[in-house]
Amino acid sequence: MMNSVFDTRPFIDGHRVAPLTDVTFDVINPHTSERVARVPACSEAEIDQAVKAARAAFVDGRWSGLAPSQRAAHLFAWATAMEAARVELATLDSLQMGMPLSWGVDDLKSAIEAVRETAALATTLRDELVPAAVGTLAINQRRPHGVVGVISPWNFPCYIAMQKVATALVMGNTVVLKPSEVAPLGCLLLAELASRAGMPPGVFNAVPGLGAQAGRALALHMDVDALTFTGSSATGGALMASAGQSNLKSLVLECGGKSPQIVFDDLGDLNAVADALVQGFTFNTGQVCVAGTRLLVHRPLFARLKQQLLARMSDLRAGDPRDPEVTMGPLANASQHQRVSRMLQEAQDRGVSLLQPGPVQSGLHLAPTLAVDLSPADPLMQEELFGPVAGLLAFDTVDEAIAMANDSRYGLMATGWTSDLQLAHSLPGKLRSGTVHINTVPRPAHSHAMHLGAEPVGQSGFGAEGGVAGLSAMTRIRSIEIRGSA
Ligand code: NAD
Repeated sequence: MMNSVFDTRPFIDGHRVAPLTDVTFDVINPHTSERVARVPACSEAEIDQAVKAARAAFVDGRWSGLAPSQRAAHLFAWATAMEAARVELATLDSLQMGMPLSWGVDDLKSAIEAVRETAALATTLRDELVPAAVGTLAINQRRPHGVVGVISPWNFPCYIAMQKVATALVMGNTVVLKPSEVAPLGCLLLAELASRAGMPPGVFNAVPGLGAQAGRALALHMDVDALTFTGSSATGGALMASAGQSNLKSLVLECGGKSPQIVFDDLGDLNAVADALVQGFTFNTGQVCVAGTRLLVHRPLFARLKQQLLARMSDLRAGDPRDPEVTMGPLANASQHQRVSRMLQEAQDRGVSLLQPGPVQSGLHLAPTLAVDLSPADPLMQEELFGPVAGLLAFDTVDEAIAMANDSRYGLMATGWTSDLQLAHSLPGKLRSGTVHINTVPRPAHSHAMHLGAEPVGQSGFGAEGGVAGLSAMTRIRSIEIRGSA
């Protein structure tokens, strides 16, 4: 299907192909509620077509047979093609899920850097020669899985897909990407750009469709060797069931979060911390897996920090994502808006106070919200909302803060703010979290971040992403022993 404005067809075996179905779904602009595109609701048949193309490309060695540096060269060329299309990709993301365009363009820049950094890591994962008796060669070898399914979410549509696809590809796998139905257009273009930049056909395929159909078909496919997923914990659980029901495919699951930010009273100037905390739960309208939504504050600072947070929240500017002055877009879709609004209403009914000093708008825009007068067990402190909402709680001792921070079924990221060097060094060992930040925030554009690997804890998922650990997760280890004679 070719829309009047956007090409929505699946990209399979080096080409845009006609979908095998007439059924479509709508992609809606959350700011205007207008339809952006009608997209084919591909399912088993198209997924199977893509998996067959990916399998053929894997087996004949056109990709897996290349030296890592040759695959890296293809990724560098892909990154250059994305650079030329950066504004187009960011515009597509912004139109579909409402992120402010101005920082969407910056976000794409970071994502392209992440692809380049992944390419640069291509030769870092080395096979290992194991000491053995004279006459025996013993090797631990890293091999690609084969065909990797990538299932991605809508909150950073291109960024997350690019990072996952690049990691799988650089290790020699071939890929079938099923992007989120909320924002599939940029992801389809990514596959086309890779092909235009010279990537062999069948190496990177992208198929749009609904999760329960196309996503499920990919997860159940008997010829998909591994699946790397970013999305909700509920879908992560469904993927584990699908893997179990099919071929025991290997899984990397990067799921939901409810990240704590712990602020200790040894800090003098709270300005930078207050900036980081507000940014941490309102950035991308709070639709960030590592959003710091549980604000745990040492009691002596509580009143002062609360005032500083409210002042910054009132400075946020909501509105049209195309307006460069806008710092908060709408929530990404109507069901997301209904869900967050319902959870806020239920919290109010329980007696939780909701402080909303910032901009309120109609449509799918939601005011940034600070929830106070609530217990650590309150659903607002336990459930992932995926909206610009944080709960604020006071603590009296370090042990109490750690216990509150760890009181979550998730474990994606935890952050501590302190001037006490001893405390700073002791916190990571006590926090139950895949990533720990002390006095800093996630900055994906920083090249060193690409060398850091992390694996979530609890219901935030499992399997590493980032650095050599992330590359390793896109391979299987094989042991080889060779003796000169039998
Ligand atoms: P989601 O789980 O609803 O959808 C994610 C993807 O899974 C989509 O492509 C969807 O079509 C597909 N899907 C849905 N049901 C499926 C099924 N039964 N079988 C196969 N595929 C299926 O998540 P979302 O709403 O797109 O994204 C928001 C969630 O993603 C939040 O929970 C957020 O925390 C999480 N997230 C996690 C990270 C991380 O790195 N841990 C990063 C970003 C987002």
